[in-house]
Amino acid sequence: AKHLKLILGDQLNSKHSWFKESDPDVCFVLMEMRQETDYVVHHIQKVLSIFIAMRAFASQLEEKGHQVQYLRLDDPKNTQSLSDNLDMLIAEHKASHFSYLLPDEYRLDTQLKEFCAERDLKMEAVDTEHFLSEREHLGRFFKGKKTYLMESFYRDMRKKYDILMEDGEPLTGKWNYDQQNRNKLKDTSLLLPPLDQSRDVAEMRQWLEEQGVKTIGTVPNDRLNWPCTRKEAIEVLRYFCEKLFAHFGTYQDAMHSEDRFLFHSRLSFALNVKLISPLEVVRQVEKYWMGHQEQVDIAQAEGFIRQILGWREYMRGVYWAKMPDYEQLNYFGHERALPKWFWTGDTKMHCLRHAITQSLEEAYAHHIQRLMVTGNFLLLAGVAPEEVDRWYLGIYVDAFQWVELTNTRGMSQFADGGIVGTKPYVSSANYIDKMSNYCGSCHYVKSKKTGDKACPFNSLYWDFYARNEDKLAKNPRIGMAYRTWEKMKDKKEIREQAAFYLKHLDEL
Ligand code: FAD
Repeated sequence: AKHLKLILGDQLNSKHSWFKESDPDVCFVLMEMRQETDYVVHHIQKVLSIFIAMRAFASQLEEKGHQVQYLRLDDPKNTQSLSDNLDMLIAEHKASHFSYLLPDEYRLDTQLKEFCAERDLKMEAVDTEHFLSEREHLGRFFKGKKTYLMESFYRDMRKKYDILMEDGEPLTGKWNYDQQNRNKLKDTSLLLPPLDQSRDVAEMRQWLEEQGVKTIGTVPNDRLNWPCTRKEAIEVLRYFCEKLFAHFGTYQDAMHSEDRFLFHSRLSFALNVKLISPLEVVRQVEKYWMGHQEQVDIAQAEGFIRQILGWREYMRGVYWAKMPDYEQLNYFGHERALPKWFWTGDTKMHCLRHAITQSLEEAYAHHIQRLMVTGNFLLLAGVAPEEVDRWYLGIYVDAFQWVELTNTRGMSQFADGGIVGTKPYVSSANYIDKMSNYCGSCHYVKSKKTGDKACPFNSLYWDFYARNEDKLAKNPRIGMAYRTWEKMKDKKEIREQAAFYLKHLDEL
C-alpha cells in the first residue's frame, strides 16, 4: 500500500473517520513492541488487556475489508522500536505517505514528530476524534492563571456540550452536588460483583512470560475481566447504568474491606484505549438518568458526568499545557524510596494492605483508594515523586501518562505546588476511618498519635505540616490545621514518632 496509517495501542476508536471506507491504497499498522511493554514495568493485566484489545481491533478492521498489518511481539521482523518498525514497513510497502493519530503521551508525540522530521515522505498527524477538548484548549482557557480551577473548566464544558443544561443554566438549578457524595457504606447488601466478562488468558499469559516481558501483579485464575472490545465496553456502561448508577455518587468516596469496586463503573480502561468515547458515555448516562429519575437522583448523575466531562478532560489539558516540565516537578523536594511493601501488600496497615493487594490482583483501585490511602501515605512519607509515578504508571490497567501523571504528581502529591489542587490531599486516620471500615480490624490504633501501635497516618500527618510550614502555612485553606498544631501539647513526641516511622518505613 502507498499510504501507511499508524494506530497505537490506546487508539482503538472504531468510530474514527479513518475507517468509514476501505481504500486499497491504505494499510493500517498496529504493533506490539518492547518499547511499549518496557518503558515502565506494567501490571500483567494491563499488557494483556492492551494486546487483546489491539488484536481484536485489527481483526475487526480486516473483517470490514481494510488492509491491516499487525506485528506481534514475537514476529521475527519486529525490531521492537516504533521508529525502526516504521522504517521497515515503509520500505516493505514502498509507501510514499505516512499518517498517524495524535498520541496522548508526550513521549510518543516527540518520537513521532522526530521520526517525521528526519524522513522525506508525505506525513501527517490526525486527531483521534476521542476527546471533547483539543490538546491546547485548557492552556488557553487558563492562560496567566496560577491555579487551574477544574470547576470553571467543567462548567464551560457543560455549556459547550449542553449536558444537564437548560437555556444556558444547570438543569436542576445547581452545578455541583459534591457535598452529597461523601457517605460511608454501611449496608453491604447493596454491593454487587462487577459484570463478568472474564476470559481465559492462561495461554497468552504464558506466552508473554516466555517473551521475557517483566510485569507486576497477577491474573487470579488466569481470568481477565476487562472489557477489550467496543461491544464489551458498551456492556460495562449498560451494567453501570442499570445496576450501579443509583449509588455511584453517594458512595463515590467510600471504601470497604470486603469490596474492591463498590459502585464504580470500571470504564477507565475502555475509555483510555478509546473503545468507547467520553461523549457517548456522558450522553448515555444523562439519557438514562432522564428516564429513571425516580431511581437515580441528580447527585449521582452530576457526580459521574463531572468525572468524565470535567476531571478527565481537565487532566489531559493540564498535561499538554505543562509538559515536559511537569514530569520533573517536586515542590516538597521529596526523596525517599517507595516502601518495599508497595510491591507486595505486606504491611500491617489494613487500609494500605487492602488497596495494594487489590491493585496487584486486579490492576485496579478506585479513586479514593488511590488518593486518600496510597497517595496520601506516600505524600506524608515524603516519597520521591518519580518513584510514586513509576508505581502508579505501572500498576493500573488504566494508567497512561497523560492521566496518571497529572493525577499523581498534581492531585495526589501536590508536587506541582498547586496547579491542579488548591491544597495537598492529606489526612490522618480520622478521614480513612470516616470513609471505610478498615480501622476497626487494623493492627494499629486509629486514635493514637504516639506510642505502641499508634496509627502511622497520625504522626506522619502532623509531621508533614510541621516540616512544610514555610511552603504551606500561608495557604488560606490550611490555616486551621496550623492553628490546631500550634495548640498541641505533644508536638515533640509526635515528631519523634514520625521520625521513627519514617526511618522504618519498610517495616510498617
Ligand atoms: P469511576 O469512578 O466509575 O469514574 C468514571 C470515569 O471518570 C473513569 O473511568 C475516568 O475515566 C473518569 N475519572 C474519574 N476521576 C478521574 C480523574 N481524577 N482523572 C481522570 N479521569 C477521571 N485514571 C486513569 O484513567 N488513569 C490513571 O492512570 C489514573 N491514575 C490515578 C492516580 C492517582 C494517584 C489518582 C488519585 C487517580 C488516578 N486516576 C487515574 C483517576 C481515577 O482514580 C480513575 O480514573 C478511576 O479510579 C477509574 O475507575 P472507574 O473507571 O471505575 O472510575
